[in-house]
Amino acid sequence: MNSDEFRRSGHALVDWVADYLEHSDRYPVLSRVKPRDIADALPRTAPEDPEPFEDIMRDFERVLVPGLTHWNHPGFMAYFAITGSAPGVLADFLSAALNQQAMLWRTSPAATELEEVTLGWLRRLIGLPDAFEGVIYDTASIATMHAMVAAREAAIADVRAKGLSGRDVPRVAVYCSDQTHSSIDKAVIAIGLGHESLRKIPTDENFSMRVEALDQAIARDRADGVLPIAVVPTVGTTSTTSIDPVPAVADVCARERIWMHVDAAYGGVAAMVPSHRHVLAGADRADSLVVNPHKWLFTPFDLSAFYSRRMDLVRAAFSLTPEYLQTSEAGAVKNLMDTGVQLGRRFRSLKLWMILRSYGAKAIRARLADHMRLAQQLASWVDGDPNFERLAPTPFSIVCFRWNPKHVVLSEQELDAANEQIIDLVNASGDIFISHTRLRGRLTIRVAIGHLRTTDAHVRRVWELVQQSSHKLNIAR
Ligand code: PLP
Repeated sequence: MNSDEFRRSGHALVDWVADYLEHSDRYPVLSRVKPRDIADALPRTAPEDPEPFEDIMRDFERVLVPGLTHWNHPGFMAYFAITGSAPGVLADFLSAALNQQAMLWRTSPAATELEEVTLGWLRRLIGLPDAFEGVIYDTASIATMHAMVAAREAAIADVRAKGLSGRDVPRVAVYCSDQTHSSIDKAVIAIGLGHESLRKIPTDENFSMRVEALDQAIARDRADGVLPIAVVPTVGTTSTTSIDPVPAVADVCARERIWMHVDAAYGGVAAMVPSHRHVLAGADRADSLVVNPHKWLFTPFDLSAFYSRRMDLVRAAFSLTPEYLQTSEAGAVKNLMDTGVQLGRRFRSLKLWMILRSYGAKAIRARLADHMRLAQQLASWVDGDPNFERLAPTPFSIVCFRWNPKHVVLSEQELDAANEQIIDLVNASGDIFISHTRLRGRLTIRVAIGHLRTTDAHVRRVWELVQQSSHKLNIAR
């Protein structure tokens, strides 16, 4: 592709993207293709000869676009709604062109230092103290795995050199709640602690970790000779967005000398909003914390911000410099390859920098607050309808509820099936995509508001569709 072709194709592509960002709601939000439709529509072998970019784009539109589920659609309200915002898209485009690989400071001074600067901005926006050093990973799952490695490093002497097996190391335990994201399970599995080392502490009626149960579990483990190494409270759990009592968990961790890693992957950014500052109360006492700009900070996937006041332990676990990567400035600079498993690093901070500058903190706070207002609005409609019940509090921008008609007695199985049907009917509309969870055994409709362009009209539409769908159910009333 020569420079003229690049320019021509690039302009056409930017036009396509601009239209897409403005009108992504032209497409059905949930893809309607069947398994194998995409793979079967494409050749099995790569072309031997060059193909014009126009032809490739034509196939992109014809074959791939129908197979896209549109996470950038304002009616996307499943899982956690996210946004690939325009400044973030531009930054990723630029990042690909620059192709920075920031393993060492010298392989990209700009990427290395911008990461420190933007993570400093984000840290101050969410109110974490400066003692927290930040590093960007791809996802919260990887950030949490690094937190568990640091906790292991803090608790077990010589673990880097000697590992865990074939030596006199006691069994270890990590604590989280029964609502915690599966990334904690995967982290303990990945780093060799074993899945059985994870203790899922029961939660209260608000789906928050019961601290007295945490206390008891730690005491039981200590009595059995098990070594507690980490507690992982969550700010914004995946199913309900519940908030664990971080200040009380911090007390336990301080008393017991256990690493506290706060999973604020979803909820952490809400602390930017003055009315929600409190959601990170106690997090200043954490050993580490993760917050995901790619969830609710309008940042194209992926970018996860990991903070720790003990980054020295992450470095102790991972820094290892082969001869060919030795540099004369090593002692005076940060080499990002030292803060984790990964050697190469993309220039992810560029998109966070461009997003924070393009929108400014005021507008971002206003949009987050608006999402929470929309969630309260939907929650109030659910609460006001006798045929629906809310199944969890709504501390952020996710609403959990189910249809449970007042004048018909249905079994729990029938209610599950009916609510599943409602979700399927809503999703078949093409306007809205919602997902489910299960709370205390009940199938739960879960509406996640979080896309930059989601407005009152989209939230009214989701409620209208849910109500209409409930009327279509084949149930005697
Ligand atoms: N923590 C929580 C609370 C989550 O909800 C999720 C994903 O939804 C994760 C961690 C994992 O996020 P990631 O996809 O960045 O690994």
